[in-house]
Amino acid sequence: PAIAPVFTGASSGVRTYDAATIRNDFPILQEKVHGKRLIWLDNGATTQKPQAVIDRLAAFYAHENSNVHRGAHTLAARATDAYEAARDKLRRFVNASSTKEIVFVRGTTEGINLVAQSYGRRNVKAGDEIVVTWLEHHANIVPWQQLCLETGARLRVAPVDDNGDILLDEYEKLLGPKTRIVGLTMVSNALGTVTPAREMIAAAHRHGAVVVVDGAQSVAHRRTDVQALDADFFVLSGHKMFAPTGVGALYGKQAILETMPPWQGGGNMIADVTFERTVYQGSPERFEAGTGNIADAVGLGAAIDYLDGIGMESIGAHEHALIERTVAGLPAIPGVRLVGSPRERAGVVSFVVDGCRTEDVGKALDREGIAVRAGHHCAQPILRRFGLESTVRPSFALYNTAEDVEALLAAVRRIALRAQ
Ligand code: PLP
Repeated sequence: PAIAPVFTGASSGVRTYDAATIRNDFPILQEKVHGKRLIWLDNGATTQKPQAVIDRLAAFYAHENSNVHRGAHTLAARATDAYEAARDKLRRFVNASSTKEIVFVRGTTEGINLVAQSYGRRNVKAGDEIVVTWLEHHANIVPWQQLCLETGARLRVAPVDDNGDILLDEYEKLLGPKTRIVGLTMVSNALGTVTPAREMIAAAHRHGAVVVVDGAQSVAHRRTDVQALDADFFVLSGHKMFAPTGVGALYGKQAILETMPPWQGGGNMIADVTFERTVYQGSPERFEAGTGNIADAVGLGAAIDYLDGIGMESIGAHEHALIERTVAGLPAIPGVRLVGSPRERAGVVSFVVDGCRTEDVGKALDREGIAVRAGHHCAQPILRRFGLESTVRPSFALYNTAEDVEALLAAVRRIALRAQ
């Protein structure tokens, strides 16, 4: 990507970039909405795609398209090389030690369901416990609830304080000899809370539990290092990190993946089939039955190249400044209340406007070209913890600018004034 005049902050050493230039890499950001410049602040739901990713998809279909692993012909080799290169890019991106630890899935939801159904069914029995936090997205609640119903295990929930930070003492009290699995988000998609994942993982390990980390809301904002975290599983969605929809990844420690049964059966995942018995492949093939989302996985590889070109530290620092300004500016508007004020925040800010329904705030912002999410964000328990059914949620990405934030604040000011 074109990275505009760069200076190295002497104190932080983090390279800054000009987001207004970066915006030009994203064709959709040139769209007009209601005659206004599109300001995309719905990145928590999905991110826009740079031209480099769009071009990579087109090039794949124009020059490489084939099924992978099977036919012994030139295009099969090209497609397989591109697909496996994307897997290796993911490995580097999350700092896994082997590509055997990277399973392609449809996204975070599918990755968590895979773990629940494969690892969970094999290792969880009646009387066992699964611990999640109050911050989780429904994708990190419902699969565990289903597993509990099936097995007779019990779901326990680590509470948060009034800022939206996890109460670590309470979390640790929930852990014990019955704990088999902990499901934990890196970043809350409703409040923006960055969880103390490393500490929480270490505590779970002291009790012999495995930890599934939901990285959906962290991967586009901060560097991922599954080894430093010591996560047993880590899941991500490509579409939340500038890649196509329909592809994501499950990282799992190889030693654990090798003990897990397949969760779907079919082609690709087998070593040998007779009517009497089937011998499965090892990881990752064992978990990738059927034809995968080949082109989109290649697109995910291109998105990782794009992120590498800017640098996760630079992206994090850039977004931090935007979020700081938003978090300072919104509550200064009469009638506007932030929901959650976590110690460390990434990606999203949630707020409500007195006397104005969140849907109406969302619609009013849309009329100004500003796209945000208004609703429950698929995280009803945490909103209800704050006595709410819905919030307005601007969410940020590497291409948002200070101008976007000022436009948001000015629009919310007008909406709040009208509501009074
Ligand atoms: N987990 C979190 C924290 C999310 O924010 C999301 C999506 O909003 C998901 C899981 C589900 O991701 P996907 O719909 O891509 O599977």
